[in-house]
Amino acid sequence: MTGKCPSCQQLIGTVNVQPIDAYEGTKTWKAGVFTCPLCRSILSVSLDEGYRAQWIVGEIKKVIANTNRSS
Ligand SMILES: [Zn+2]
Repeated sequence: MTGKCPSCQQLIGTVNVQPIDAYEGTKTWKAGVFTCPLCRSILSVSLDEGYRAQWIVGEIKKVIANTNRSS
């Protein structure tokens, strides 16, 4: 399956991925940056799955806490 790079408009069948650090204030997480193999434009950045899972659990806990507070 191929897609078109939004920067160079070429059809690409692969992307390059590189590990990168993502910063939020003083916190650091592992992330991956996906780039076009032809022009090296950044196509996407994704946070480490473990961090995403922790973040989702934190958001669910907030919703539960707010639900219990209002009832
Ligand atoms: Zn490109």
